[in-house]
Amino acid sequence: MPSYPLRALVLKTTKLGETDIIVTLLAADGCQVRAVAKGMRKPTSRFASRLQPFSVVDLLVHTGRNLEIISEAESVSTHSLLREDFDRSTAASVVCNVLEKISLEGQVEERLFGLADATLEAMEHAPVETLPLLVTAFLIKAMSMHGYRPRLDTCVSCGCAATDSREFSLEAGGVLCDECGRAHPGAQRMTQDCRDLLAVLMMSTMTDIAAIETSRSTQLAGFTLMRSFVTHHLPTRLKALDFYSREVCR
Ligand SMILES: [Zn+2]
Repeated sequence: MPSYPLRALVLKTTKLGETDIIVTLLAADGCQVRAVAKGMRKPTSRFASRLQPFSVVDLLVHTGRNLEIISEAESVSTHSLLREDFDRSTAASVVCNVLEKISLEGQVEERLFGLADATLEAMEHAPVETLPLLVTAFLIKAMSMHGYRPRLDTCVSCGCAATDSREFSLEAGGVLCDECGRAHPGAQRMTQDCRDLLAVLMMSTMTDIAAIETSRSTQLAGFTLMRSFVTHHLPTRLKALDFYSREVCR
């Protein structure tokens, strides 16, 4: 059976039978791959420690009857600091959780892997108080790649400049001018600071984000709005995002 190399990020592991696991992966081309690692739960397993969530690995896989089968695994970056710290680990879990829901088998989106790797790298080293900004920036960027780029510069309904907008429509995916805001009674309130922050996060690289200065309340408002945006458009339960939200908004 022919094998092929695969660089991927481990998103999730699930037990399979007594000794095997199923590994859900985001491949470097942005496709989701599910593969079996046989014997991984035995103490003698050669690669148990390498196939953990948040790790980037180089694999050798071959096609099995139902799923791919992993025959070799080498670490590329373990992102081990993420596992040693509760705040970093809960933030990184949001990244893997959202990627698991938006990536699909056979659907190429090459920017997704780069975003994931850059986000995890930043989450490993950034000051802990900036983690909510990294999570929010990741949500905006991942949703944009998924076809839901929030519109923040002009009114999403009529296209006017909407300079004094205080409303955001989850459904339409952007800010509303005063007049359109009145026609969308369900829109979310949003401060100018929050709008400015989201615009900056959208344009910034993950390494630049740790240097952004903003108040805690604006940080949380931005996160809460983007979380609502994600849950509005992804029809699935996002356990890690729910958990993170409870922790960060306490
Ligand atoms: Zn308008």
